[in-house]
Order: sequence, then structure tokens, then C-alpha cells
Amino acid sequence: MRRWAPARRPMLVVGAILDIEGARSAYVRFSHGRVVEVGVRGTEGRRRGERTVHGIVVPAPVNAHTHLGDAVSVREPPPGPVSRLIQPPHGYKFQLLARSSRADKVRAIRRALGRMERDGVAATVDFREEGRPGVELLHEAARGSSLRVLALGRPLARPVVRAELDRLLAISDGVGLSSARDESDETRRIVARACRAAGKKFGLHASEAVREKPERYLDPRPDLLVHLAKATVDDLAAVRDERVSVVVCPRSNALFARQPDLRSMERLGLSMMLGTDNAMFHAPSIWREMEFAYVASRLRRRPVSAAFLARAALVEPWAWLGEPETALVVPGMPVPPLVLRLPPDDPAYQVVTRTTEHLMVRFRPRDRRAAAGQ
Ligand SMILES: [Zn+2]
Repeated sequence: MRRWAPARRPMLVVGAILDIEGARSAYVRFSHGRVVEVGVRGTEGRRRGERTVHGIVVPAPVNAHTHLGDAVSVREPPPGPVSRLIQPPHGYKFQLLARSSRADKVRAIRRALGRMERDGVAATVDFREEGRPGVELLHEAARGSSLRVLALGRPLARPVVRAELDRLLAISDGVGLSSARDESDETRRIVARACRAAGKKFGLHASEAVREKPERYLDPRPDLLVHLAKATVDDLAAVRDERVSVVVCPRSNALFARQPDLRSMERLGLSMMLGTDNAMFHAPSIWREMEFAYVASRLRRRPVSAAFLARAALVEPWAWLGEPETALVVPGMPVPPLVLRLPPDDPAYQVVTRTTEHLMVRFRPRDRRAAAGQ
């Protein structure tokens, strides 16, 4: 099988588009990895020298929650409650990060980014611990990658030292805190205010192992809440009313016998995204996350639609980043879309339950990078 599509040969994809406007039958013409024409299927016509592919065209997905530093862990994590494993500052994960050399962490993150790149992921939102040096390390690992890596760093000193927070915000895309339970009201207020003033994102974990009150994690209002596995329907309604986006990580939660109520999130109309969470627990594969979410919601008899899950990876993150145009397949879209060799009759179902790396049509990396304007 040929790994890369010929660089200069134009390509015609006949099948469907699944993007911010939903699913529709369509054709998409590509030149040098870039969309040059979109139209109604059946009206495409044929051009000499053009390669034809049958499949589905989707915006590039975003992994909306990772802790890539954990990729330095290569053994099965020990059993135990999530608190013993990942709680700062003395959980297993933090001991591991402290024990590992900087070079090992950079290498591990680079490997994880490489895998996401092959999976077609365009961006990742990483909660990077270890203060400003942690963010610097992530930036170093991301150098040369086609992935956009958003670093939500975490200041180390408590009480928060303003100078440290400012130094962190100078190089990060915002702050990602542990949880409202782990941090004082004062810390959250100072961090939220500083993020807002700097025009950056403020996110935190919420209701992961136990239910927390929305009055706490919604005040100050964050830009992002991660998990909500223990949130009640009323809690989710409160999050929706505050128009705060949520990232769910169903595989990570399942390891600890928890499951976010995706069906209620869909019914309430929450802005939901998908993340793969700690790299010590799971490979950062957004496609595996999607399929697991689809299957697990049925195992619990709380089925969520494939369309909602597809939006969670392909559309909502771009809206959250303030770039909804990236989620619309049209000529001139800022980030090139993916072409998946899948039957186009029921696109969301196919994409959510069937996508793997080997079903992606490849452009040469340099074409993709050129098309992405990098
Ligand atoms: Zn997390």
C-alpha cells in the first residue's frame, strides 16, 4: 500500500462531508493537499490526471485534554484510587515526573505528538504541570511538529506568587488547575483574573472522583471544565447556563469505574469536547476515545449519538478556540481537512466507530505543512 498520495497529482474525493454544518453528500477537489473546490455529489465531472477517492472529508480533529508529560511512564500504572495516582503534589504521577530526566520527558512527549500527527490530529490542549519550566519543556518537544500544542501551564507556588504566574502566562496559552477541591477560592480567583487580563484560557478539572458543587467550580467562571464524571443533571444544566465548555475523557474515567453522562450532555446542548487525558493511562488517540465513548454509553444504556461525538472532536474545539472557520470544509479553510476512506452513507456513524490511521489518505508531509501555512 502506498503511504503517501502523489504530491502534485490533483485528487477528487467523492462521498460526503462531515463538518460544522453536519453531514452531507458532496465532492471535494484537492490540489497540493489543499481544498480547491467543493460541490454537490454527482456534479463533479472528471478531469484528466486526477486521482479519485471515495470517502468522507472531515475537519482535522483536536484532542482537547492531554497530560503529555505522563508519556514518560511506560509500565502499567499501579492499582489504587485516582487520588493516589495523579493527585498533586505527591501522587505516583508527580513522583514519576520528578524522577524522570528532562531529556526523557521531551523524548516521551515528542513520541506522543508524533503519534497524534499520524492520527491526523491538528491541535492538542495540554495541561502541563511543573510550572514555567514544564511549559518550556513542552514547547521544546513540540518544535518541528505539525501539531499546534496549546499549553495550559500550572504555577507552582501556593499561595500564588504573582510574578511566577506572570512569567508562566508570558509563554503559555493559559492555566490548567487540578480542581476546585485541590485549590483555594483565592488561588482560582487570582489565576482566573490574570488569565482574563492576558486574554488566555483558564481551565480546571471538576467532579472527577466525587461530585463538587457547581457554585464552586463555576465561580470564577472558567473557560474549560474537564471530566464532570460525577456531575448531576442539574449540575450539567448549570454549566450549560454559564456557557462553559466541557472536555470529557471517557477512557480515563472508565479505568476508575466512572462515566460522564454524555447522553444528558447531549440533551442539554452542552458544548462538549473529547480528550485522552493522562498519557500514562492511554495512548493519545482521539479516534479510540470516540469509539469508546460511543460503545460505553450503550453499555450503560445511556446512548449518545455519533453526530454529537463527531462534533466533540471535529467542530466544538475549533469554536472554543475562536476559529469556527477551521471546522467548515471549503476552499481556503485554514487547516487542511482529513480524507477518510469510509463509506459515505452515514458519515458520523462511520467516522466515530470506524476511523483508524490506515484509513486516512496521506498527503506528503511538506504539502500538508505548506497547506497549513507553516
Ligand atoms: Zn486531566
